[in-house]
Amino acid sequence: MFAEVIVDVAHSETDRVFDYAFTDENVKIGCRVEVPFGYQKKEGFVINLKEKTGVPDGKIKSVSRVLDDFPAINADCLALARYVKDSYHVPFAVALRLFIPAELRGGRVKEKFVNVITVSDKFTEAEALSSLRKGSSAQENAIKYLFAFKTCLKAELSDKFGASAVNALVQKGFFVEYKEKAGRTPYKELGAVSKNVTLSDEQTKAIEKVNETKKTVTLLFGVTGSGKTEVYLRLIDETLKSGRTAIMLVPEIALTPQMLGQLRARFQSSVSILHSGLSAGERYDEWLKLKTGESKIAIGARSAIFAPLDNVGLIIVDEEHDSSYDAETSPRYKTVEIAVKRAEICGAKVVLGSATPSIESYDKALSGEYELAEMKKRINGKQLPEFIVADMRKEIRRGNASIFSADLREGLKECLSKGEQAIVFYNRRGYSRQVICRDCGYVAKCENCDISLNYHKDYGILKCHYCGASYKMLSACPECGSVNLSYSGAGTQKIVSELQSLFPSARILRMDNDTTQNKDGHYKILKEFSDKKADFLVGTQMVAKGHDFPDVTLVGILDADMSLYFSDYRSGERTFQLITQVAGRSGRADKNGKVVLQTYNPDNDVLLSAINYDYGSFFEREKAIRKSTGFPPYALIIRVMVESESDDAALQTLKDVYVKVSKIYDENRDNFLFFNKMKSPVKRIKNKFRYQLLMRLTGDYEKIKDGIYEAAEESKSSSSLCYVEENPSNLY
Ligand code: ADP
Ligand code: ZN
Ligand code: ZN
Repeated sequence: MFAEVIVDVAHSETDRVFDYAFTDENVKIGCRVEVPFGYQKKEGFVINLKEKTGVPDGKIKSVSRVLDDFPAINADCLALARYVKDSYHVPFAVALRLFIPAELRGGRVKEKFVNVITVSDKFTEAEALSSLRKGSSAQENAIKYLFAFKTCLKAELSDKFGASAVNALVQKGFFVEYKEKAGRTPYKELGAVSKNVTLSDEQTKAIEKVNETKKTVTLLFGVTGSGKTEVYLRLIDETLKSGRTAIMLVPEIALTPQMLGQLRARFQSSVSILHSGLSAGERYDEWLKLKTGESKIAIGARSAIFAPLDNVGLIIVDEEHDSSYDAETSPRYKTVEIAVKRAEICGAKVVLGSATPSIESYDKALSGEYELAEMKKRINGKQLPEFIVADMRKEIRRGNASIFSADLREGLKECLSKGEQAIVFYNRRGYSRQVICRDCGYVAKCENCDISLNYHKDYGILKCHYCGASYKMLSACPECGSVNLSYSGAGTQKIVSELQSLFPSARILRMDNDTTQNKDGHYKILKEFSDKKADFLVGTQMVAKGHDFPDVTLVGILDADMSLYFSDYRSGERTFQLITQVAGRSGRADKNGKVVLQTYNPDNDVLLSAINYDYGSFFEREKAIRKSTGFPPYALIIRVMVESESDDAALQTLKDVYVKVSKIYDENRDNFLFFNKMKSPVKRIKNKFRYQLLMRLTGDYEKIKDGIYEAAEESKSSSSLCYVEENPSNLY
């Protein structure tokens, strides 16, 4: 027999099938094997078995050995890997690697064992004690202790009574020592009490829709606090009862400990977590539990879509609109696409949940491609929190130049006096580079693209990230003449210190990139806040996601408009989502909630839709804009990136790929809405020079796209990278 093997080397030159002979019956499809390759031994994946090979007798080599006790990649996953390889144009080996923990490759994980001591069943406690010489009090105490508790970790016992006493008792045979596999269960302390709730009508209807639809995908469009999690839990429960398994994806696992706690509470050890924050050993253990069927539910961030589960019946993507579902390194996959494909392969259902669906998903729900299940009411029967709009231009005119509006200060004060909690949200990412007039709210925009310009400090210019046009830095506002222009904001630290001086007695927590560097950083802060050890939580995007704190009755949004002008065609969408999500943290339990939204642009359409909870008007307007300007879903944005440590090498590669793509452009002008080559918005990152070709395609562009991928592949060199991104979620 012969095995078709993909050798685990991520080179395009070796990206093909190699045949190997074998006799070992453990060689199966999906197995990892070791094979001779050139002068070396390499790991590889068996993707097919066959009776005959085209390789001549004398030339064929044999599989050296099988690496694992089981096929690491099941048939569904193998099919999915093929899909990833084809649609994201990566070597097969790179696609296959997604399905196994890095630790498995090269045999890097060691199973972790601990030494345990137990009492021997050959002796009684009295016999053991009577054998002791006088004065061996350590041994005496150890015997009394262990005969009471029966077993104990050796390290712990030695700590208490001394290693020499413990070793002596093992020698004498009163104690027995053995090794036990250490269970590395991450986030062990999470395991909330399972709430036994009666479903609301809307929840019941949503579950029925998912069960009854013939469509693969259901969009669960439920307002914040409508009880989406309970719907997920019930669907998972039904899936397990029917003998199948489930995958639950969340944007960032560290930010949603509640979800994990609830899954654990309901399904105990059937849940395994997959995410990059775990230690290598933990990750491997969790993967293995899923592989062997010990766990039946995989929860994690986007990469958990590749969980090694058999017989998947349900895939849930919570907060499906979140941009963290777009992979930013190769392979640059879109998680929802993979989820739908995986579901199609194994006949599973997909549930996409959100209070603010992406334009693409809602569009598909309206057109009938997806089923639509809506939940329009909050579980607590309360209205969604009321918005109070604070016009920051008026505040300045009134002489209040501080970060906080009068309304927000008032609200915070009231919160403190009632012993309730508040979240202050600050959108730092949007804050970095737009130029905004602090007097009239004017924002500098590109004349061609209607997208806000970015200030490039190093060149002293304003630049459009979409068409590359650059403009002189403004010295005064063209609308009102004010010189009060802002292009860099305060940091969270400054907000906290100002807040502290306003409210000296308040206990304030800060959550941003700086305070969450440690492994469990997010979790600790969120836990402190939910334990009511703080009054205010100040933070960036992280505070917006999915949290359920019953005592939060006020949310403050500082400078809501900043992300509105982030130089991205999705900035309106992102702003709408952020405002809705963060507002949704307020008033989730039995108390009414409110939101103070500070802005320089109170008349902005996106803000108005958000504060009126009017997704429909936002969606229609956004769609019309995208249609008329030629942006997704009406066009495909393609960016070819070139990166190199040498500027010359990068330029050479750019030239090569430009010539090739220009040829495609000349032959297919009708399909190109836009095509240009330019420096990347950030020209150098981590010492790499970066250039790009930007284009937008429309019509029937599949062939053109493949051509562009080929052009990039052919243009890259040993010293420079050249790769393709589709609808990248960040252009920097
Ligand atoms: P969403 O994800 O839609 O914002 P959650 O799933 O976090 O909302 O639910 C909001 C709150 O309502 C949670 O505290 C949850 O435990 C509670 N909840 C959900 N369903 C019910 C129900 N049927 N009865 C009572 N409480 C519920
Ligand atoms: Zn102005
Ligand atoms: Zn432009």
